[in-house]
Amino acid sequence: MEKTNSKPPLVVSNVVFFVAVNLLGFVAAPIYGLVVGFSGWAWLAAALIWIASGLSITVGYHRLWSHRAFRAAWPLRLALAFFGTFSLQNSILVWAARHRVHHRHVDDVDKDPHSILSGFWHAHMGWMTRHWKTSDVNYAEVPDLEKDPIVMWQHKLYWPAVWVLNLGFPAALGWLAGDVIGMILLAGAFRLALSQHFTFFINSLAHTWGRRNYSLDNTARDNGWIALMTWGEGYHNFHHAFQADYRNGLRWWQFDPSKWLISFCAWLGMARDLKRTPAFKIHRARLQTRFNELEQYLSRPDASSTWRKVFEQELQQFRETISQWQTVQAERVQAGADAMRDRWRRIEFRTRYKELEYRMKMQARRLAELQRSLQPMPA
Ligand SMILES: [Zn+2]
Ligand SMILES: [Zn+2]
Repeated sequence: MEKTNSKPPLVVSNVVFFVAVNLLGFVAAPIYGLVVGFSGWAWLAAALIWIASGLSITVGYHRLWSHRAFRAAWPLRLALAFFGTFSLQNSILVWAARHRVHHRHVDDVDKDPHSILSGFWHAHMGWMTRHWKTSDVNYAEVPDLEKDPIVMWQHKLYWPAVWVLNLGFPAALGWLAGDVIGMILLAGAFRLALSQHFTFFINSLAHTWGRRNYSLDNTARDNGWIALMTWGEGYHNFHHAFQADYRNGLRWWQFDPSKWLISFCAWLGMARDLKRTPAFKIHRARLQTRFNELEQYLSRPDASSTWRKVFEQELQQFRETISQWQTVQAERVQAGADAMRDRWRRIEFRTRYKELEYRMKMQARRLAELQRSLQPMPA
């Protein structure tokens, strides 16, 4: 049979660029470091640019512009656009247009720009190295962002800005510190290559490795290790379930510096309208996911009938809790905004919600225990 090559042609500029940055960052920089050594200034500049540019992608490109998870004052938007340009992940406009498609068509190999079902490498970098149809940018996705002058300004100036910030800026710093090559290799190439792979892990690793806590409908996973590398974006299953939420790591102990920075900016008065998913909806999604997992497991012919019965009872209770919640919601709507001004009515509703949330929390504990008893159960 004749061998046919169905792959689209390479994006030569991207391939040349990725090869150059990775060779400079992961081969030339370590050799230079071992043979000549880096100045303290080069390490400091690399660390600061790495932090500022990384957080600008997660807080700015991702949570602010792609998902509108909060609103930001212009000085904050300007800073996020400026430092985000160091990360070389294309302009905000292009990034957000593709990212919105990723969420809407996640795992669809014909529509998701970096579907993990097209392979780990494709989701990580391969999608940028060829002219895939799915990598086309559709600006109709981002009409809201076209109204933001900072976004449009960054889009127009993007490529000159990239060269100035990633090559000119480290070179100038190096000239000041007396370490031009070291600064370009460490604060330029190594920092850029490392931060790019860490971000790309969100598309590849965070759709492969970890637990699905809030939805089994897609491949996104929650993984604390990935969160450590990605400024908190490793709680990706939660994020795909509740994409408008400004948080990815929900609990206080989960590593999500992007969430902390947004809260801090809100405290400074630079961010407002932070979107939070109601606690009940989060508990409900978590329990529903556990029930779905247990259901799959208990539907096997060798599953014990005792556990099956426990499962049915728990599911019944879950449904009752949800229906009670719907009742409280309906009553609240009926009571109207006026009633909510009354302190007593407000407290009454709040306690009823809290009781239902507590019941779900306790049920989640029982289900976790049930899952443990049924080991080995697939994750
Ligand atoms: Zn994703
Ligand atoms: Zn997202």
